[in-house]
Amino acid sequence: MAKDNVEEKTGNIKMSTTDLTLDEIHKLAFDCLQQNGADALNAELLATTISTAERDGSLSHGLFRLPAYVAALRSGKVKGDARPVAEIVSPALIRVDGDNGYTPHAHAVGLPKLIEAAKTTGVGILAIHKTHHMAALWPEVEALAEAGLVGIACTNYMPAVAPAGATKAFFGTNPLAFAWPRPGKSPIVYDMATASMAMGEVQVAARDGHDVPLGTGMNADGELTTNPSDIANGGVLLPFGGHKGSAIAMMVELLTAGLIGETFSDESKARDNGDGGPPQGGQFIMALSPDRIAVDDWEAHCDAFFERMTGLPGPGVRLPGARRHKNRLSKAPRAINTALVEKIRSLMT
Ligand code: NDP
Repeated sequence: MAKDNVEEKTGNIKMSTTDLTLDEIHKLAFDCLQQNGADALNAELLATTISTAERDGSLSHGLFRLPAYVAALRSGKVKGDARPVAEIVSPALIRVDGDNGYTPHAHAVGLPKLIEAAKTTGVGILAIHKTHHMAALWPEVEALAEAGLVGIACTNYMPAVAPAGATKAFFGTNPLAFAWPRPGKSPIVYDMATASMAMGEVQVAARDGHDVPLGTGMNADGELTTNPSDIANGGVLLPFGGHKGSAIAMMVELLTAGLIGETFSDESKARDNGDGGPPQGGQFIMALSPDRIAVDDWEAHCDAFFERMTGLPGPGVRLPGARRHKNRLSKAPRAINTALVEKIRSLMT
């Protein structure tokens, strides 16, 4: 049962939150998507992506994204009854035509085939076309690691990040995710925007009244700022790590668009209808089999490496993915921003 009006202090302002169980979050997302044009299968797959993001504390890619998903269904940019189709191009290459739907459906169709290919040949590539990706990337690479494979995934978006040396947006926030399998244990998973901060996090900071670190982005005049609203509205994000992050963001563009034949971020924007939902684009996913590629005992070899790493002197090394995996264990209701819950309910007729 939802419990309203929980008040908690978050940063500079008081935010009202509503407690929702994970089942309630899933049902809210499913009902909202279905009432806005998604059929049961597409609504189920996307609602699962949203509720697992809330379960793991990926707050910028859970319910927060639902209004934008709805906007693109309502405008007709995204098909609510998409039926992605997989083509086995070669033993190691699978191409999925996403049928202009949301990407979780393309994953449901393509990932099992990618897993099979990588286990057979040692390496596999899944090239996804004609989808709309607005979610976190860890679910796809984590699914590969749970199958005993190394997973690498990236996607582009619409221009939000200025390449090193520019003041105008050109790259998307271009996330890159990596998962390493640890049979019997939680995989190591990192999933990060190549921007200094994901735009979703900047928007959440603006909504909740937090400043962002200097170096996150510039305002509309090309000046560095700590005000997230100035970055999100007319300003621009910067890549992480200066020219090095800029090079990795460019690599994401090339793998997602140049290699698989989909759109670069600026091209995605040029053809987007501006409804606020994610543009049509592609995704690059690669799977590698350590059982096939590594020499004997790769598990023990890597476990010893992680032990040495986490045992280093200092305030404490934590393995990426550990925060989410810990959040996942809690069965407690999640505190969702009340204004967001009300906004989602208002989208349901
Ligand atoms: P974060 O900077 O919050 O985290 C990046 C990674 O670093 C995570 O895997 C996180 O693990 C790990 N990490 C964080 N702190 C530490 C630490 N102290 N020690 C070790 N590891 C750490 O992510 P971003 O803000 O860059 O990205 C957020 C999300 O936005 C991602 O899921 C990304 O896919 C998504 N995104 C999606 C886009 C799209 O177009 N679809 C565009 C841009 C971003 P942990 O999870 O355990 O904290």
